[in-house]
Amino acid sequence: MARNLHNLRNIGIIAHIDAGKTTVTERMLFYTKATHRMGEVDKGTTTTDFDQEEQERGITIYSACVTFNWKDVVVNLIDTPGHVDFTAEVERSLRVLDGGVVVFSAREGVEAQSETVWRQADKYLVPRVAFINKLDREGADFYGVVDEIRKRLGANPIPIQLPVGAGPPHIESGFRGVIDLVGMKYLTFTSESQGADVVESEIPAELIDEAHMWRREMLEKLFDYSNELAELVLEESPVSTELLRKVLRDATVQRLIVPVLCGSARDYIGIQPLLDAVQYYLPSPADVPPVEGQGLKKGGPKLIRKPSPDEPFCGLVFKIVADKHGDLHYVRIYSGELKANSRVLNPGKDKKENAAQLWHIQADRREQVPSAEAGDIVGLIGPRSSVTGDTLCDSHDPILLESIDFPETVISMSIEPDSSLERKKLGETLEMLKRQDPTFRAQENEETGQTIISGMGELHLEVIKNKLLRDFNLKVRVHKPRVSYKETVLSAAEVVGKCVRQVGGANLFAEVKLRITPRQDDKACQVFTAWYSEEPPIRNAIELLVTALKEGAAGGGLQGFPLWNSSLELLEVPFPEIMPSEVALRIAAADAFTKVLQEAGVAMLEPVMKLEVTTPEEHLGDVVGDLQQRRAVITGTQIRGHSTVVGAEVPLGKMFGYSMAVRSLSQGRAGFSMEFLRYGPSSN
Ligand code: GDP
Ligand code: MG
Repeated sequence: MARNLHNLRNIGIIAHIDAGKTTVTERMLFYTKATHRMGEVDKGTTTTDFDQEEQERGITIYSACVTFNWKDVVVNLIDTPGHVDFTAEVERSLRVLDGGVVVFSAREGVEAQSETVWRQADKYLVPRVAFINKLDREGADFYGVVDEIRKRLGANPIPIQLPVGAGPPHIESGFRGVIDLVGMKYLTFTSESQGADVVESEIPAELIDEAHMWRREMLEKLFDYSNELAELVLEESPVSTELLRKVLRDATVQRLIVPVLCGSARDYIGIQPLLDAVQYYLPSPADVPPVEGQGLKKGGPKLIRKPSPDEPFCGLVFKIVADKHGDLHYVRIYSGELKANSRVLNPGKDKKENAAQLWHIQADRREQVPSAEAGDIVGLIGPRSSVTGDTLCDSHDPILLESIDFPETVISMSIEPDSSLERKKLGETLEMLKRQDPTFRAQENEETGQTIISGMGELHLEVIKNKLLRDFNLKVRVHKPRVSYKETVLSAAEVVGKCVRQVGGANLFAEVKLRITPRQDDKACQVFTAWYSEEPPIRNAIELLVTALKEGAAGGGLQGFPLWNSSLELLEVPFPEIMPSEVALRIAAADAFTKVLQEAGVAMLEPVMKLEVTTPEEHLGDVVGDLQQRRAVITGTQIRGHSTVVGAEVPLGKMFGYSMAVRSLSQGRAGFSMEFLRYGPSSN
């Protein structure tokens, strides 16, 4: 069944860990009747959290995207993991969703991870509504968090609801419900039905003045976005709910404002109005700009595709999940129509792929569909070569969409299989895991028989290790994780490498000239050349040399670690009368590569992380003392609510086991978040 574009919402819920994302999701699924019982995080019964029960019920697929209906709209809820090790997964999700619900804790406010995900959402131009959760908690501060959203995130938050009975300026009499400033109603939620019934009533008399003041403030903030509304307010004429919703919607979709709602997911307060806000204020696929891409000819003009079923098909694979029917490729369709049992093109790999089956995934069931249209998300079974980030398109009208950026891995672990049978199994399993998780790398070292796996952090590799040992039952020895090092050059250098040899009477001769220059781009070494020739043999030689140098730079410098922060240029040399053989060229290139690194001098780099520790005042001294021992550079401290937040830059190599350490230093009261910052000089 085709879904009406205007009634679709592709959204994600994004949050700092523990803000209540899972609880909010669980309530949404329940109220929209996508699930039949309400799970609780604290009892381990939620639909979305990764646990064995979930696997047994066969709904891990949920972790990518689940569909439910709310009033007039179909919502595709795309999962965005909360832990920072999975930041790349958040990026992947943001790339394909049209709108976001950002959940904040009313007590903790804007935390480090909220800031990170907020910036990512900015980068992908994702319109948002904010939900301030946990208003039942002592110390909840709705207005304080709104202020932080403005100051720390540089956003333009507009409260469209007020909490009743929670936090200052009220005396805390217990959080009871919310005032809807758009409809000017008081909303409460019956706890007997687990909040399923929303009761609309008049705003309590003692709060009416305050409600009018905040409504007035909301309206005034919207003057900038609608003359019609401004005139009505200035004339003191009534503003209809329809007009107000339209102005709020337009400004939200254009990312000029962030409507702020509030509630307590635990106590079943505020979820249905949040779903209404998704319908009213977040964009449909028709409201977002057309996607851009490249044609197959390099340097050709940019192509665009409107979100219309009448355009040629294009879509992006954003997640792959292993499934008993075959790998399920989650595809966001940007234009046209994708039909089951058809052939599509993967333009990046120049491969035709089978689009065999299409599925819409509900929370606890799935439905096979004959086709899906622009704006929708489907699970596709059939492709063999496509991975996350790949474009699929109509082979008659190719377009290559921008892929998804994945950050470098920062941590590695070696694993050794017990037998050659296990080695084969391990190889296959790792291949599968790599297909599903683009931030995970695995490489076998043929000399040592070890396989090195790399990922985004300790937790990431821990999850993979558990999968290998527990889910796949592999007999492998797993070593301790260590950080991934890189190598860089200290200065620029230019050398000529040579191959002068006699092999069986023939002369092997070649010269290769290289220049290396340090850079500060925090990227892998860029290999390039400006050397160009019309003559095919020379052109082939240049191509061979560039490829060999790229492999060399990725394979490792003098210490065996990938070259970083540098550029390597192949310079032109006059060719001798007899064309050098391939072997001679390779030997000369290797010689030049070693020489140029020796001449420039190399240094080791290690991953440096950005760290934020939130701790109660009384443990601040211990936390900072411990950080100093870990070679952390403290970049700032600030008071936030009841806690002190310490910002620092610290080498990842010193941070193994930090979650345990920080817990014991603070009797479990401090929390932290850490993300990759850059590669910096290593002291090892
Ligand atoms: P996530 O990490 O963002 O997915 O957060 P969870 O939904 O797992 O919630 C983290 C913790 O906060 C759990 O113990 C929840 O029971 C609790 N929690 C979630 N929402 C609320 C709320 O509205 N009020 C209170 N007091 N606790 C909540
Ligand atoms: Mg969660």
